[in-house]
Amino acid sequence: MADRSDLGAPSDAAGALDLFKALEASGARSTLETLRRENRELDILMNDASSLLTRSEVSDMLDFVISRLLDRFVPAFLAFLIEPPRGGRLRQYCYRALHPTEEEVPVRYYRILKGYFLEDSAAKTFSEIQALAGTDAFDRDFRSYEPDLILPMRGIGGVYGIILLGGKIAGGEYSASERMYVERLSRFLSIGIQNGLHHESSVTDAKTGLFNHGYFMRRVEDELARSARHGSRGGLILADVDHFKRFNDNYGHLAGDEVLQVLARVLRAATRSEDTVARFGGEEFSALIVECDETHLVEVAERIRAAVQGMRVRYKGEELSITISLGARMLDARERPDAGGFFEDADKALYASKAAGRNRVTLFRAGLLGRASILRLLSVAAP
Ligand code: GH3
Ligand code: MG
Ligand code: MG
Repeated sequence: MADRSDLGAPSDAAGALDLFKALEASGARSTLETLRRENRELDILMNDASSLLTRSEVSDMLDFVISRLLDRFVPAFLAFLIEPPRGGRLRQYCYRALHPTEEEVPVRYYRILKGYFLEDSAAKTFSEIQALAGTDAFDRDFRSYEPDLILPMRGIGGVYGIILLGGKIAGGEYSASERMYVERLSRFLSIGIQNGLHHESSVTDAKTGLFNHGYFMRRVEDELARSARHGSRGGLILADVDHFKRFNDNYGHLAGDEVLQVLARVLRAATRSEDTVARFGGEEFSALIVECDETHLVEVAERIRAAVQGMRVRYKGEELSITISLGARMLDARERPDAGGFFEDADKALYASKAAGRNRVTLFRAGLLGRASILRLLSVAAP
């Protein structure tokens, strides 16, 4: 009996060749090739988009986008201009040849460009925008960026930012697929950045930019959980500005606000990046110092106290200064599991600093068998 495949093979091959020729002639084959390429591009985009959306920090998202662009092309200039959710100064992230630069795009251009995306959110070439705005709208300073493509950053609530893409450093036009990649990725980036900014404002204090009370409490709970598992130890510091009511009465509330903002920067500078510094409320601040012992905790508190004492704030021609009182308490889950008691102890220590004359550090120590409490007064007399 003849093998079926032996009989069928030559005519199948001829048929396939005919089919191939017919497909080629009709253009279907190149369409298929284009679809395959687009499919690959979409696959890459989906992977990039999902990597992007797992990041919570704006700077991480931008670093990621820069790394993806580096694989494709290098624009001479690139800028992300972003309105922060709470208002205030436009945030700018600018790059020359994909290296961060301190340059800033004049804000008036942001306003002009944003106007063109309020109704129509499609990306536009700079020439298209110039045709709409007139050549006079953009001075030489703006043209020096050699803008090529302008993309809106759109999220819930509408357009909140602009991406400015300059021409390629190697010259030549962006290809259709390069342009499409940038446009599509920018839509994911816009959502990711808006999420990141909203997360940031939900855990920070608007006046000082420090973490807020709620976030701080969660970090202390985390630290206690870590302490219960690994026996690690952290420490808690509470600080309160001395006689701040009097300060406000003397210099005004706005001067007080200015001082609180500088104080926040001093607190951050006096602690490590792993530590958490928060505005606990009004003129009260808190710090969670991780992986420390009692000596280190007191050293940090004392360093903060001295830094604040040395702080000078120029306000309307006057040089203002303040002092703070501090209470410190080691965190140890073996003593008790909940955070509340540690805060009460740190507060008692803070109160003792106030009672002893202010501008000083007090450490709360749990006494023998957890019964007695010893307040050890450290540090200096008020100036
Ligand atoms: P003490 O040394 O005992 O802490 O005295 P104090 O005057 O600082 O204490 P008190 O709690 O009586 O007053 C706190 C003051 O802090 C009153 C309030 O107006 C001021 N304050 C709280 N939050 C702010 C703020 O955001 N800005 C300004 N300017 N003042 C604030
Ligand atoms: Mg207070
Ligand atoms: Mg006070």
